[in-house]
Amino acid sequence: MIKFNHVNKWYGRDHHVLKNISLEVKQGEVVVVCGPSGSGKSTLIRTINQLEPINDGEIWVGDVQVTSPKTDINKLRAEVGFVFQHFNLYPHLSVLENITLAPIQVKGMSKADAEAQALTLLERVGLSDKKDAYPSNLSGGQQQRVAIARGLAMNPKVMLFDEPTSALDPEMIGEVLQVMKTLAESGMTMMVVTHEMGFAREVADRVLFLDQGVVLEDAHPETFFTNPQHDRAKQFLRQIL
Ligand code: ADP
Ligand code: MG
Repeated sequence: MIKFNHVNKWYGRDHHVLKNISLEVKQGEVVVVCGPSGSGKSTLIRTINQLEPINDGEIWVGDVQVTSPKTDINKLRAEVGFVFQHFNLYPHLSVLENITLAPIQVKGMSKADAEAQALTLLERVGLSDKKDAYPSNLSGGQQQRVAIARGLAMNPKVMLFDEPTSALDPEMIGEVLQVMKTLAESGMTMMVVTHEMGFAREVADRVLFLDQGVVLEDAHPETFFTNPQHDRAKQFLRQIL
C-alpha cells in the first residue's frame, strides 16, 4: 500500500535528512515509526502525501506514484489521511462542519450525505454529542478524535499520524490511542509516529526505528523491544521505557 524505493531528501544543500530509504507497508498493516528527535520521522511521513517533496527515489501509495509530476496532489491527499500533533481543526467551524468540509468541497458529496457520514464517524470516535460544538470548547483529546474523524471522512486508503498524542495532557492520551487501536482493528493501513511504546507493542505489526535519516531497525515489535540490533536503538529504548 505504501512503498519507498531508495528515497533521499535534503533540506537545503547540506542536510541529508532521509538517506536511501526503502520500505513497504502492506494493506492493513500498522507500522509505528520511532526514533530520536530530529531523526527525520515527520519528514518521512510528510513525504507520503507530498507535504514534503523528495529529491531522489520513488514513493508509491497503492498504484499511485506520489513523486510523479503527473500525480494529482489533491486526489492523493484525499486518499491519504493525515493527523497532526496539533489537531489543526478549523476554529471557526463546528465539529460537524470540520468533518463535512472536504467531502463536500473536494469530493462533491451532498451536504445531507456528508452530514450523515460525519455523524457515523462521530459515533465511531465517541463524540456524537459534540457535533455542534466548536473546537475551542473541546478538550485536546476530543479535538484530536475529531481530527481523526475528519481524516476518515475522505474514506482514505491510508492514515498517517505524526505524534498524535504528544500535545495532549496525560489523561487524554488513552482515549485517542483507543480510537486509533479500533481503527487499526478495522483493517486500516496506518503509519504512526509515536513514542507510545505501549501502543507499538499492542497494536503495531512492525516498528521502524529511524536514526539520522536512516531506517536502522524494521522489526516485529517483540523483536524490536527485546532484541534491538543497534546500540542506538538500545540507547533510545533505555531512555524512553
Ligand atoms: P523528527 O520528526 O524525527 O523530530 P524532522 O523530520 O522534523 O524530525 O526533522 C529532521 C531534521 O530536519 C531536523 O534536523 C530538523 O531540524 C530538520 N528540518 C525539519 N524540517 C525542516 C525544514 N522545513 N527546513 C529545514 N530543516 C528542517
Ligand atoms: Mg517530528
